[in-house]
Amino acid sequence: MFLALTAALFASPALADTLITNANGVQSDQAGHITHFTGILIGDDGKIVRMVNATEARPRAAVTIDAGGRTILPGLIDAHGHVTDLGFYALRLNVTGSKSLAELQQRLRDYAAAHPDVKWIQGGGWNQELWPDKKFPTAADLDAIVSGRPVVLERVDGHAVVVNSAAMRAAGVTAATPAPHGGEIHDGVFVDAARGLIARAIPAPSQAELDQALAKAQEILLGYGVTGVGSMSTSVADWNAFRRAGEAGTLNVRLMSYLLGVESIKAVPHPTPWLYGDRLRAVGIKFFADGALGSRGAWLKQPYADKPDSRGLQFHSDAEILALTDQAAAAGFQIATHAIGDAANAQMISTYEQLSHKYGRDRRWRIEHFQIVDPADIPRLAPAGIIASMQPTHQTSDRLMAEARLGMNRLAGTYAWQSVLKSGAKLAFGTDFPVESPNPFPGLSAAISRQDMNGQPPGGWIPSERLTLGQALRAYTRGAAYAGFAEDKIGSLEPGKYADFIIVDRDPTKVDAQSLARTQVLETWVGGKKVWSRAPSASPTERGL
Ligand SMILES: [Zn+2]
Repeated sequence: MFLALTAALFASPALADTLITNANGVQSDQAGHITHFTGILIGDDGKIVRMVNATEARPRAAVTIDAGGRTILPGLIDAHGHVTDLGFYALRLNVTGSKSLAELQQRLRDYAAAHPDVKWIQGGGWNQELWPDKKFPTAADLDAIVSGRPVVLERVDGHAVVVNSAAMRAAGVTAATPAPHGGEIHDGVFVDAARGLIARAIPAPSQAELDQALAKAQEILLGYGVTGVGSMSTSVADWNAFRRAGEAGTLNVRLMSYLLGVESIKAVPHPTPWLYGDRLRAVGIKFFADGALGSRGAWLKQPYADKPDSRGLQFHSDAEILALTDQAAAAGFQIATHAIGDAANAQMISTYEQLSHKYGRDRRWRIEHFQIVDPADIPRLAPAGIIASMQPTHQTSDRLMAEARLGMNRLAGTYAWQSVLKSGAKLAFGTDFPVESPNPFPGLSAAISRQDMNGQPPGGWIPSERLTLGQALRAYTRGAAYAGFAEDKIGSLEPGKYADFIIVDRDPTKVDAQSLARTQVLETWVGGKKVWSRAPSASPTERGL
């Protein structure tokens, strides 16, 4: 008996096992309740051997790392982000947060002076809603700063661009060019389908530029504690960049990729298995059912309150979207469709109901954004196995605009996280970066408070839709993993799953929502290896313990 026990003690932790100990571990269980742990025993395959609780004896391991009582959370998973776009956003002209047209112009002037060799000045992030007069910028506004080379600046929601005259000349577009179906053109602003007129003239990024953008994006994501991403609207060129990084062993963020449109199926005919140590997989195809609310492209059941002659943009007939999604589903792909307005959401729910009859259970049809929904449609999600993939910071960013676009009596069913959960449907959280910052903590904060980082509005916007911290964390970990068919590998810290975790500067269970939003990540670990740590000079001033 004694001998057998000794043998078991020696046999169980392999020599290369690593023990993280003395941690203030916090995660969410399947039911959305907070649970605690004090240690993680990690095998040399980067997977968790077992979790350790406060009452247990410390297991033996080859390497023991004392967490010093700091707070550990599972790596956060952003269910919906645009990976190379994030890198390009960081590398290109960023006008996010400009408080006026004059500020946008100043940033353009500075960037043009600092980058004389850039042939096409590209960038984005403007939002005229933040400007005093709320007027869209024009080609003439850009010409006044840069006229000798093309300038293309995307609106913060990605659904419109403003360009200068040089860009229009390069694209062969004039003031007389008619807008294509599903788009609009006015004074150098190209909305939704009209963006293609400009986009086709922009030289495609080189492989080296894509690789640089991916590396930059990973650095940003890991610094925010994001260890997995539902990589939306992945182009074939993006996919190839992901694969190059995988081959080179430089892929640290796990990517569940959704390729853009059925054309992608030519290049990637079926979902791939997990590649490169479970770092990359092609899992789905992304579609769009409508535009966005900011540019009044969201397709609504009733006219816009602030534009009564419009219900927004319907991208596809019912038959067309069914045929497109059916083609992708037949090839084995998961489907993820952008739907913002209540009419677009109703169309997608009906489409997925039909696909469910054909393809049966567990295809995990996804609706991306699910922002403005007729409350009568929410109970239709769960029976058809539809996942609501939502972005909490869209609620705090968009609430005043939503009030203007919809009017005050059409807000039930907007950003309705708690209603989604109460209906029995699955919820996955993300940010839609770079539309919003990829930092998950303002999102977790918004999810529990319905307030922005400054605590606005007092009491929270439609506070009945708030989540508990456990529910919010679950949507940002387990929910996002489930939404990417990855819940057997990531999304929670438990035996057999990867040791993807982060060390943060405060305990989310012990701080208020505004403090939670300001959480700083200290270290990020993927597969049991530290892949990012905060520079000592940037060490936090506030400790949550
Ligand atoms: Zn998106």
